[in-house]
Amino acid sequence: MPEMTLYAEGEDAMYELGARIARATGGRGVIYLHGDLGAGKTTLSRGILRGLGHSGAVKSPTFTLVEPYELGEVRVFHFDLYRLADPEELEFLGIRDYFEGDALCLIEWPERGAGVLPKADLDITISPHGVGRALQLQAHGARAEAWCAAL
Ligand code: ADP
Ligand code: MG
Repeated sequence: MPEMTLYAEGEDAMYELGARIARATGGRGVIYLHGDLGAGKTTLSRGILRGLGHSGAVKSPTFTLVEPYELGEVRVFHFDLYRLADPEELEFLGIRDYFEGDALCLIEWPERGAGVLPKADLDITISPHGVGRALQLQAHGARAEAWCAAL
């Protein structure tokens, strides 16, 4: 599957990249966000949400596991599964409701939900690169390939 690497030096560049990704997706699909603690997954999520018109705060859903957003026609669910002990716990969150509609799901620490989460359209792996970050994008299927082509 096609891969591409993008670079963001500083938080503002990360927000800008997030906004570009937001526009490319049109606010639908499943994006897995990989990277160590402090890599920039929540920062990128904030950029994506802002790019879809969100103007308020974006909390890290570390304790709530998921934060929902309604931005006009677009619904976004931002997950942080770092504290998930067992993928089965996702069933108690009513996980199916989140993935049935035409929402955009941004998922930090998706490996913790393995077996229960739906497949990703796009994997984004964030790693340190100089003073900034490198983002490796991997598309799975035609939809995400089109997003990447539009970036
Ligand atoms: P994560 O959600 O992956 O744990 P965060 O998004 O909370 O990480 O980001 C951790 C720190 O990295 C924040 O202080 C943020 O400002 C910084 N950061 C995020 N993206 C970049 C970037 N592209 N360049 C430099 N610093 C960044
Ligand atoms: Mg985070």
